Amino acid sequence: MNFLEQRILKDGIVKEGNVLKVDSFLNHQMDVALIDEIGKEFHRRFSDKEITKVLTIEASGIAIAYAAARCFGVPMVFAKKAKSINIDGDMYTAEVESFTHKNKNKVIVSKKFLSPEDKVLIVDDFLANGCALQGLISITEAAGAEVAGIGIAIEKGFQYGGRSIRNLGYQLESLAIVESMDSENGNVVFRAQDK
Ligand code: 5GP
Repeated sequence: MNFLEQRILKDGIVKEGNVLKVDSFLNHQMDVALIDEIGKEFHRRFSDKEITKVLTIEASGIAIAYAAARCFGVPMVFAKKAKSINIDGDMYTAEVESFTHKNKNKVIVSKKFLSPEDKVLIVDDFLANGCALQGLISITEAAGAEVAGIGIAIEKGFQYGGRSIRNLGYQLESLAIVESMDSENGNVVFRAQDK
């Protein structure tokens, strides 16, 4: 079992509605040493790619994207949730439905920060149905840039996002893949990975 799986077993809380709470170490209070380890692990898994930029979505992807970008020595860009519906032509936009909040957000990235020369590592804290990732992929491709890889901290393997993204041919690396979880007894079972 890797460091993240161990931490999920120790401090993760299984909520009703297929939600895993990790807010004591990953997306509210943050264990910065753990976040650093996640960044290093993404760097290790994508070390054969010439990553030029790390892309994520606000808010909870930002810390792990920062940690990864630091290891690659490249800038990090986060897609912002657009407040206004008047978005000018200087932005790439995508519509993203939130799994946890059940609402839709338009997310934007300025055209200044992605270009056709970029090889982009997309990262996020969670992968559920894949909507957030699809938005980031479409923004990257709208810029003419290459999706060089996708790094996820926690994938919920019983939801369809992981399968559909892998079927599209992307290299998707999830540090912990939850195969099943039970809010009654708090049990979490991980998919075996040989990484
Ligand atoms: P997706 O777009 O893949 O359906 O969901 C991914 C997004 O929803 C992530 O950015 C994450 O913030 C949030 N999310 C999805 N499932 C969970 C979960 O079980 N726990 C938490 N804390 N966030 C989740």
